[in-house]
Amino acid sequence: MTRTLSAPVTVAFDYTRSTGPVLGRFLTGLRDGRLVGGRTSDGRVVVPPPEFDPVTHAAIDDFVEVAPTGTVTSWSWVPEPVKGQPFDRPFAFALVTMDGADAPLLHALDVSSPDQVSTGMRVQVRWAEERVGAITDIACFEPLPSGASDAAATPGAAAEPAAGDEDVRSEPAQPVTGLVTPVELDYLYAASPEESAFYRGLAEGRIVGQRCPSCGKVYVPPRSACPTDGTPTSEEVELSDTGTVTTFCIVNVPFLGQRITPPYVSAYVLLDGADIAFLHLILDIPAEEVRMGMRVKAVWKPEDQWGTTIENISHFAPTGEPDAAYESYQQHL
Ligand SMILES: [Zn+2]
Repeated sequence: MTRTLSAPVTVAFDYTRSTGPVLGRFLTGLRDGRLVGGRTSDGRVVVPPPEFDPVTHAAIDDFVEVAPTGTVTSWSWVPEPVKGQPFDRPFAFALVTMDGADAPLLHALDVSSPDQVSTGMRVQVRWAEERVGAITDIACFEPLPSGASDAAATPGAAAEPAAGDEDVRSEPAQPVTGLVTPVELDYLYAASPEESAFYRGLAEGRIVGQRCPSCGKVYVPPRSACPTDGTPTSEEVELSDTGTVTTFCIVNVPFLGQRITPPYVSAYVLLDGADIAFLHLILDIPAEEVRMGMRVKAVWKPEDQWGTTIENISHFAPTGEPDAAYESYQQHL
């Protein structure tokens, strides 16, 4: 058995934002297979359009369509792509100044080796098969075949259906006004030896803390040192699974992935014998009846569902005992 435990953790949420009229116009253009830039007060065309002029600070209201072809002005090779990047094989990120624009746009360039990229090379947009009004509607840039006709450089050329194509849209599509950006962080959580002992205890239905040899306080989960005086801790203490609610909040806000229907209570529970409270759910009682000082007991999941996780404790529920006196926990808030 290894000394310490570790587990993969993913923190993720979908960030929903409104685009505003300027970026919305750019994204609407992408969805329709067109590249829209904005003209600034000095006459330059910038893609994507800025919301405000960088010199006069006036709102940009002069929008220009540029060609889906352009010139690489700078680039960087990505030898080992990471999750979420445009390709799972090596590729380049390139700054491309579109024909008709004066400032470059950053996107992926699909080439198989850095030998195939050079500043000044001509490229064209490869549109995504399904376009939804996001920057990913541009799948990537790709090298412009030598001798490609100027027709490809016509603004909006990519949006024109080829002869025989059917336009299945019967209603004009609405402008893009919002977009959803998934944000995700994957990491490996490595527990300390003391935390590992805590989690292994939970796998046996025990709650294990540590006592400080200097001040005598008991911490759970143990952190390997006393946060009050910094003394290293090693003496293990098994704690009761009953305790007292010190502070709490009522969760009223729904969120993605929520497993319990609001309102419900998340509370700090001071286990009997501990000097620090830890956070858990209080269920089996209406949220509005939870109170400071309420006595609670852990409700464990069935033993065959136990792992080395705090989730072995499903939640805490009222014991029905009289409330603890405020003086008994006022030093532990
Ligand atoms: Zn101490």
